[in-house]
Amino acid sequence: MDLKTNLSTLGLTYKFNAKKLEKLGIKTVEDLLLYVPSRYENLSVISKVNLLQAGEKATVKGYVLEVKNTYTKNRKKIQQIIIQDKSGRTLLCIWFNQVFILRIIKPGDFLSVAGKIIFFQNKITMIVEEYEVLSDENAETVHTGRLVPVYPETRGLSSKWIRNRVKELITNKAKDSLHEYLPENIIIKNELLDFKTSIEQSHFPKNEEMAKKGLARLAFDELFLIQLSAAYRKREWQTKKTSHILKISPFKDELEKLLASLPFTLTGAQKNALKDISADFTSASPMNRLLEGDVGSGKTVVAAIAMYIAYLNGFTSVFMAPTEILAKQHFDTINNLLSPFGIKVCLITGGSKIGISNQKAGGKKSKKNHNSKFIISDSNTDLDIFVGTHALLNKNLEFENLGFVVIDEQQRFGVKQRSVLRDKGLNPHFLTMTATPIPRTVFLTLYGDLDFSYLDEMPRGRQTIKTWLVPSVKREPAYKWIKDKIMEQDEKGSKNQVFIICPFIEESESMITVKAAVKEYERLKNSVFKDFNIGLLHGKLKSKEKDKIIQDFREGKIDILVATPVVEVGIDIKNATIMLIEAAERFGLAQLHQLRGRVGRGNKQSFCLLFTDAKSEKVQERLKYLETNHLGAELAEIDLKLRGPGELFGTLQHGNTELKIASFSDFELIKKTKNEAEKILPEISLYPALIKKIKTFREENISSD
Ligand code: ADP
Ligand code: MG
Repeated sequence: MDLKTNLSTLGLTYKFNAKKLEKLGIKTVEDLLLYVPSRYENLSVISKVNLLQAGEKATVKGYVLEVKNTYTKNRKKIQQIIIQDKSGRTLLCIWFNQVFILRIIKPGDFLSVAGKIIFFQNKITMIVEEYEVLSDENAETVHTGRLVPVYPETRGLSSKWIRNRVKELITNKAKDSLHEYLPENIIIKNELLDFKTSIEQSHFPKNEEMAKKGLARLAFDELFLIQLSAAYRKREWQTKKTSHILKISPFKDELEKLLASLPFTLTGAQKNALKDISADFTSASPMNRLLEGDVGSGKTVVAAIAMYIAYLNGFTSVFMAPTEILAKQHFDTINNLLSPFGIKVCLITGGSKIGISNQKAGGKKSKKNHNSKFIISDSNTDLDIFVGTHALLNKNLEFENLGFVVIDEQQRFGVKQRSVLRDKGLNPHFLTMTATPIPRTVFLTLYGDLDFSYLDEMPRGRQTIKTWLVPSVKREPAYKWIKDKIMEQDEKGSKNQVFIICPFIEESESMITVKAAVKEYERLKNSVFKDFNIGLLHGKLKSKEKDKIIQDFREGKIDILVATPVVEVGIDIKNATIMLIEAAERFGLAQLHQLRGRVGRGNKQSFCLLFTDAKSEKVQERLKYLETNHLGAELAEIDLKLRGPGELFGTLQHGNTELKIASFSDFELIKKTKNEAEKILPEISLYPALIKKIKTFREENISSD
C-alpha cells in the first residue's frame, strides 16, 4: 500500500462513508493522515475512583462488574455500567440513550472511560463522554487517558470514527508507508521531526509540545511541497522549448497602427503587461503568465493586442471565457478591434453551434453553423482567432498552428485547459486573466509556476469612488446628504440612486449591533427616507422577486435599495452612485472593495460611505485603507496581514486552494519554505523520494476541475 491508496479499497466502513469523507476533501490514505485535529481534549488525568471529585473531568480504568439498561420516569433510557478500579472502589458510569453500549461492553471487560464527574443518586458518577474497551491493562489508549484529538467539522463522521481510522492506519495499515522524503539537511536545519513521528504526534501526541512539533513539520511540508512542485512544474514547462517564438520587431508598424486605432491610450500598467508578454513571446519557452487586474482595468485589450502579435506571426489564437454571455461580449469586442485589420474572428459556444464572422475590413457579416464535428481544415484555415467557452476544448475541434491561448476567469488558472491542449499535442503560449484579488504572497505560494503581471492602475478618466469612513455622530448629516443627492438631477433628468448594504438578513442574538436588513429597511422606510421609494433585496427572496426588484431599481422606480451582500453578484446600474455599508467592520477589505464596485459604473462621481459602530482604533485604521486604496489585490494583501486568511477564500474561488495545515498569514514559514524549495530545485535529482512526492502532490487538484 502507499499513501495514494484510495481509502475505499481498505474496507467497507470507508466505502460506506466515502461521500462524507469526500466532503471533507479526503479520498486517499494520505488525505486522512493529513486531516489533522483542530484541537486536543485533555483527558490525560487518569484518576483512581477514591480520588474523584464532582465537577472534574477525568479518565478512569477498571474492570466491568455490571451492565444494565434503566429507564427514567419519563421513559428515557439510561445505560449504567459499574466498573471497579485498582483502588477496589466501584464507579457508576452512565450514558443516555445509547443502548448499543450494552452490546459493546460486557462484564469482565477492561474499560477506560472519560467524562464529567457528578453526584447522581447521592453517589459519585461519571457521565461518559469517551470510552474504549482495552485488550489488557497496559494497552495504549486512543480515546481516553491522553490528549485526545478532536477533528474539525465532521458532518456526520464523528471524531471517534476518524480517530479509530487514523489510529488503525498509523499502527497497522499504513505504518510501512510513512517514509521520509525530505533531505536530511533540511530536516536538521529546520529542526523538524521525521515524517512518521510528525504524523503520529500530530494525531496522538505525547504532550502539547510534541503536538506542536508534529503539526509544525506537517505545515512546513505543505508549504514546501506546494512551492517546490510549482517551481518544478515551471522548470519542466520552461525546458520543453517546443513553443513558437513570436517576433515583435518586424511588426512595429502594424502594432503602432493598431494602437493608434484604439479610442484611448494604454495605461502604463497595460504597457508593462504587454512588455512582459512580448518578452515571453520572444523567448524560447512558452509563456505561462497570469494577468491580474480589477474589473475595468482593461485586461481584454491587452489580450487582444497579444493575439494580434500572434496573428502577425502567422499563428491562430484561442480566447476562452467562462460563460456564453461573456464569450459573446468578448467576441464583439475583439472582432470590432481586430477585424478592421483583416483578422477573422469566430465564436464557438454551446458545444455544437459554431458561428463564424467572416467580417473582413468593411466586408459583409455572414454566419455559418456547423455541427460538433468541426475541424479546422483547408477550407477554413483562414480563421485567426477563436473566441468561446469550454466548447473550445471539444475533442473534435482541431487547431492548426495554434500559437496563443488566453483564458479569462477560469478555475485554477488554466491548468486543466493546458493539459487538454497538450494532450492534443499543442504547446502554445498561455495567458490567464483574473479580477480575483489575490494577495501577492498567496499568489507566489500557490501559483509559483506562473509568471505574474498586475494592472495596478485604472484607465485615466475613470473616476475613483470617493470613500469615507463615517463616524457615528455623522449618521444624521450623512442621511441628509444622501437625500440631497437623490433629489439632485443631472441635465438628463436622471437622479442618483443608493445602495444600503447590511451584513445579515435577520438579527441574531449574538449580533445585536448588526443592523439586520429587514429591520433597517422598515426603519428607513418609516422614518429617515419616508419620502423616497425604498426597496429590499436579500438572498431569501425568490429569484422572480429578486429580478423584479433589480428591474425596478434599474428603471429608477426605486431610489434606495437596502440589500444584503447578494448585490455583490453582477449588478450594473449606471445611476447607482452611492453605496452605504453598515457594520463595515464585519467585511474584509477585498469584499468591501468588490461591494463598492457596484457603484461608479456610469460617468458620474460615485461615493462609498462606510458605517461602523466599532470603536476600536484597529478597526478604524483597517477601514481607512479603503479611503486611499483602490486596488483589489492590495486590499486583499492588507486583509491577509490584519485578519488572517479566513476571508481570502470567500473571494478566492479557485477550487481546492485552501491550505490544510499551514496558514497563508504565516509569512515567516512561507518565506522559509520558499527558500528551501529554491535551494533544493537545482539538485533535486539527488532526491528521488522527493521527486516522487511532488509529482504526486495534490495531483488530483491539477488534473481535474
Ligand atoms: P477588465 O479588465 O475588467 O476585463 P475590460 O478589458 O473589459 O476590463 O475594459 C473595461 C473598459 O475599459 C472597456 O470598455 C475598455 O475599452 C476600456 N479601456 C481599456 N483600457 C483603457 C484605457 N487605457 N483607457 C481608457 N479605457 C480603457
Ligand atoms: Mg474582463
